[in-house]
Amino acid sequence: MIPALMPNYNRADIAFTHGQGAWLFDEAGRRYLDFGAGIATSSLGHGHKHLSAAIAEQAAKLIHVSNLYRVPQAERLAARYVAASFADSIFFCNSGAEANEGLVKAIRKAQSDAGHPERTRIICFEGAFHGRTLAMIAATGNPKYLAGFGAPVEGFDHVPFNNLNALRAAITAETAGILVEPVQGEGGVRPAGPGFLRDLRAACDEFGLFLGFDEVQTGMGRSGKLFAHEWAGVTPDVLSSAKGIAGGFPMAAVFAREQVAKALVPGSHGTTYGGGPLACAAGNAVLDVLLADGFLDQVNDTAAYLRAGLETLAARHPDVFLDVRGLGLLLGLKCAVPNGDAQNAALAEGLLTVAAGDNVLRLAPPLIITRADCDTALELLENTARRLTPAKTEACAK
Ligand SMILES: *Cc1c(COP(=O)(O)O)cnc(C)c1O
Repeated sequence: MIPALMPNYNRADIAFTHGQGAWLFDEAGRRYLDFGAGIATSSLGHGHKHLSAAIAEQAAKLIHVSNLYRVPQAERLAARYVAASFADSIFFCNSGAEANEGLVKAIRKAQSDAGHPERTRIICFEGAFHGRTLAMIAATGNPKYLAGFGAPVEGFDHVPFNNLNALRAAITAETAGILVEPVQGEGGVRPAGPGFLRDLRAACDEFGLFLGFDEVQTGMGRSGKLFAHEWAGVTPDVLSSAKGIAGGFPMAAVFAREQVAKALVPGSHGTTYGGGPLACAAGNAVLDVLLADGFLDQVNDTAAYLRAGLETLAARHPDVFLDVRGLGLLLGLKCAVPNGDAQNAALAEGLLTVAAGDNVLRLAPPLIITRADCDTALELLENTARRLTPAKTEACAK
């Protein structure tokens, strides 16, 4: 018989009861070091006092009012993000896929308003992940996610990641914009190559296209800057963000320049829960931490420390780990063994990680981790690698 809870996930048989910082505790009282943060979402870790107090306080006062009325918490959060980013205006919603839907609608509508209603197509990249709605599985383009769901939603073209010639060759009179992750997260923690985002910006400017960045996973400090594109010195016209934006409270956002934002006039787009008082209280609390003096410096310091440790680990275990990749605290270990085996071995050691495409073991710890947390994780990964080392290599080494 089918379980009451729809069995659309492969869940590990663990139920957590509470957490503290980067640690989670299960029903059996065992503790795990959380280097997955859900999936790059619990950006402030668990049991963060400032975040949980902000949510509790707001919940006691007012949870929901709808977008029929002003929401001061949303006005404040939008103003703060406008001040801290390329964006002129921000739309709040509830999930990464929903933010990407809004991003694509905004691009199409802005093209239409600019006198180009024929420009509707979005160029996306092989290895991308943009979410699970009907349009976003088409944008993602992975046959595995499309199978069985009928004709893919029209309007998305795909080219190889980091290939400028292919990108330029795919631009037609119907192209409206480009959607790209500065680091492909689900696709295997694969960063855009040096200069690639700048080349995309130049192509968009040359052909009158809008540049969209999917920073659902890379945004909100994960890369060591508020947004990953800041490292490349390139700004998009529109950007989606979600995962870490409210520290695990469901929330997402579309950030846009005025030219794109003004296309979404009243009646053209909306969402019932989006930008409600409770989500925005959580979002403001997270932003308090992200913008605090020295916080992102600390993220970069920790990230460099963790990455150096991972490089050493990979060099010591070439039969298990092939390379280290990523940006900031979104790091990947390319595995020589099946990444699912690596994930399970790490779990057995008490370390939570997340598998990603391209046979990569992904590490996306809470941004609040310390060097001591990294030392613990590296020790657990060392044990993980030993568990995974093929027996004959072990014998040779002796
Ligand atoms: C997780 C993710 C999404 C989808 O977000 P949901 O909240 O699951 O809809 C979209 N894009 C990227 C880059 C992601 O990592």
